Order: sequence, then C-alpha cells, then structure tokens
Amino acid sequence: MTTQPSTPRTAPRYPEAQNIDPKGDLLDELEAKAPKRALAVFAHPDDAEFTSGGLLALLCSRGWDVNVVVTTSGNKGTKDPEVTPQYLAGIREDEQRAASAILGTHEPVFLGFPDGYVHEDDELRGLLVRQIRLHRPELVITWDGFRPGFNHRDHRNTGRATYDAIFPAADDHLYYVLDKEEGLEPFRPQAMLLAGTRDADYHVDITPVFRTKIKAILAHVSQIHGRTEEDTVKMWEERAQAARESGDENASPYRESFTKVLLRR
Ligand SMILES: [Zn+2]
Repeated sequence: MTTQPSTPRTAPRYPEAQNIDPKGDLLDELEAKAPKRALAVFAHPDDAEFTSGGLLALLCSRGWDVNVVVTTSGNKGTKDPEVTPQYLAGIREDEQRAASAILGTHEPVFLGFPDGYVHEDDELRGLLVRQIRLHRPELVITWDGFRPGFNHRDHRNTGRATYDAIFPAADDHLYYVLDKEEGLEPFRPQAMLLAGTRDADYHVDITPVFRTKIKAILAHVSQIHGRTEEDTVKMWEERAQAARESGDENASPYRESFTKVLLRR
C-alpha cells in the first residue's frame, strides 16, 4: 500500500521572513530580514542570565520578542537540610521571573523536570517542539550539548534535545502531530547560538547592557551568596584578567561568546 502524496506547496513556507546571508552579521541579518523573535532554552534558573544575560538584554533593547524556557525549576543544590525540593523550586522560579523581567523577556516557562534528571528523550523533545511551533523564533539560544569534556548532564541534555527539536522535528508536521489540534504549524528557526561552548565563533559586545545583566544575575538571590553589583564586577574583571594572562587574550566580562549554527530552510 502506498500513501497518498500531498499536494505540492505553492505558497512560500515562511512568508514573513527572507533567508539570511551567512556572510553577514547574524543579528543584523536577522533584524533586516525576519521577525525579531528569539527563544532561549536553558536547564536551570540562572543559566540564561550567566551565559547569555547580555545577549538577551540586548535583543530586548533592540525590540526583539524573547521567550525563555527552563527545563527544570532548579530544585536541588542546597546545603540546608531543612529545605524541601518543592520549597526551593518555588523560590527559584520566582527568582527566574524577576531576572527575566529585568532583562525584558516574556515571563519564563518552566517544564518542571527535577533538577539533575533532565533526559534527552521524546517527551522533552516534544515539549520543545511545541514551544518552537508556538513562538516561531528565528533565533534559538541554548546550551552547547555537544561540548567535549565535563558538563552538567541537564545542560548537555537540554542542549541536545533543543537541537533535535529544531531539526528535523519542529518543521515536519508528522512529528508530534497533536500540535496541529492547537493550530501550531511546523517551523524551523534560521539560527542557533550555543552557550557554554569551547570553540566560540560568535561574540557579542554586551557593554551597553552590562549592568542589566548583573542586576538580572543578582535577582537569583539564593545563588549569589550576598554578593553586590560591585563585588560581581570586580570578580569578573579579575577572572577575565587571569584568563588573559593564561592565553585567552579576548577574555572580557563585557562580551559573551557562542557557537553559531545556521539552519537552512
Ligand atoms: Zn545550570
């Protein structure tokens, strides 16, 4: 038995956007040719701020629509024996909401997996496919799940599941077919920026939003152990100086670095 071939598409698949020129600057190209929509997918409350808070604040300041998905609620990582995971999750979700408001993104979505138990599986991939079809981001920012060497498993699995959600699943209507019932159409972003990467090839000058990034990080009160804005600036400048002295000549707290991935469509 053969299946009935579908009618060939005559309308353009992405009427709102042109394809970007890979030789141009990624953000400039996207701003010129596509709706300014980005989706950040990270594993724990505070991941987005530490790795990409400058980029997200910059996008928001340039009029982008930015959504944030957090696969856990960060319900582990305390030395206090009295704290329950539910209590910690509530605190950390509130902190993430406050941090996202400072950056200027929409309210974050929590997928609710337990901290430390994010699996790279069909369930997570489907939840991410749904977010991509819902928000239709031209740019996705996530963890580099393929970085060699030691990495947190939630970072690795969140990054890989996001990659797999984008290609091929989100743009193929035969994956996760129930999305159709909500009117969610297939979609493929044009680009990814991978954070926490080893071989960065895309650098963002975050000088104009540097203080906004720090304020967003400090909104994660349970994680920053009473540090002030000035303590944070001093610590980052010292770290960057140490990195420069050991060979990383571009290390600077005023830039964020990513691996750029372009997706053809
Ligand atoms: Zn994390």
